[in-house]
Amino acid sequence: MSQREVSAKSEPATQAELQAAMEKYEFGAAWLPIMLLLPPLVYYMWICMTQNQGSFLVPKSVDELTSLVKLVPAPTLASTLFVSLWLGGQALLQVYAPGDWVEGTPLADGSRLPYKMNGWFSFWLTLLTMFFCCWMGWIPPTFLFDEMGPIISTTTLFCYGLSLYLYLKGKASSDKHMTGRVMYDYFMGSQLNPRVGRFDFKLFCEARPGLILWVLINFSIAAKQWQLHHTVSTPMMLVCLFQFFYIMDYFFHEEAILTTWDIKHERFGWMLCFGDLVWVPFTYSLQAQYLLSHPGELPTWAVLGIIALNLGGYAVFRGTNIQKHHFSRNPDHLIWGKPAKFIRTARGTKLLASGFWGLARHLNYCGDLMMALAWCLCAGVSNLLPYFYIIYFTILLIHRERRDDALCHAKYGADWEEYRRQVPSRIFPGIY
Ligand code: NDP
Repeated sequence: MSQREVSAKSEPATQAELQAAMEKYEFGAAWLPIMLLLPPLVYYMWICMTQNQGSFLVPKSVDELTSLVKLVPAPTLASTLFVSLWLGGQALLQVYAPGDWVEGTPLADGSRLPYKMNGWFSFWLTLLTMFFCCWMGWIPPTFLFDEMGPIISTTTLFCYGLSLYLYLKGKASSDKHMTGRVMYDYFMGSQLNPRVGRFDFKLFCEARPGLILWVLINFSIAAKQWQLHHTVSTPMMLVCLFQFFYIMDYFFHEEAILTTWDIKHERFGWMLCFGDLVWVPFTYSLQAQYLLSHPGELPTWAVLGIIALNLGGYAVFRGTNIQKHHFSRNPDHLIWGKPAKFIRTARGTKLLASGFWGLARHLNYCGDLMMALAWCLCAGVSNLLPYFYIIYFTILLIHRERRDDALCHAKYGADWEEYRRQVPSRIFPGIY
């Protein structure tokens, strides 16, 4: 089978050049505002949702601001117990649940780390266990919503503690990636793959407690809507189903996480830790939080349009990611019925330049954003706050694409320029 290939000569970048390219789009001095602002923002949006029916709360005096701050809850016994059992239980599943050991992508020294892929089993076992506990009356189905504030506080405190441990662990290790700036290293992380034995902190936090909790929080909010309004509205069902499906699909294709940016390139510190354990479950569930106090229905045409947008986004997102995955395993894999078109790089790897990867250099982000928009549209168009997710996610993915582009350019040089020439669009074909 013949494959069309283009080759442009370039010298592979050194490790130092790759590091410099990474740092160009790293967070620089932004670590301070990010660390100061993100935790209050999570509380702020939760307070707006629970105290102000999902509208922005703007304090007009110091007294009002003080009252707002007083709404931030301290950890409770119940939240501490839950977070301990939750993280402990998920860690035990990560270690002991059945699953295949798979090798990650090559590290800088050419070695590969083993990862246990037991997310699919852990996901279903966790959901079934939680449903069983609710069914038996051991946990109220609305527990996660009712206790959400204290759970946010407990998890946030845990993140600060875990990040400190990871920083010190990295500092004492021979395998550290540190800049020497203490707070920056605490924020970005001091190691690429911090592990104790075969337990990988980054894979665990990226993939398990936050993502599964997001699904359970949604279900808990749907239960609360039933308790308060004796109905679960169609938009609430759509949000719960879409996001449940997104996470289920993630675990079904769990191995694909090993080739993602976070696993391959991002050090593990406060930023990812807070992002994975607090930001994802408590802000990604904002649409469900909003719909709790807005149990109205959408017209049928809107429901059908939202379903179509979500399915279209899913097809683009999953199709793009799986195409790269199949190509990296087997370059002879047919792309849309034809031999793959690719660029052979001077580093010896191949850049796919046909199929989804011939339409834009990150069409997977476009698909993800289409789904994000579908989720937000479930909340109607009368309030901006439920659209926080799509706004934030667009910024995140644009920044991420720039970081990846800088890194790939440093890595592949003229070969990447050739890819840019063949595929000029970054995320949205013909638009951006
Ligand atoms: P990708 O999975 O797209 O990986 C980018 C890497 O793929 C590059 O660094 C390069 O790595 C390789 N690559 C780039 N172009 C090509 C090509 N043409 N052919 C072959 N390999 C190529 O990026 P992410 O890890 O950022 O995203 C993965 C998924 O996760 C996306 O769908 C994204 O939307 C989603 N995501 C979701 C988030 C959420 O919060 N819901 C957050 C972030 C991402 P190399 O040179 O090493 O091969």
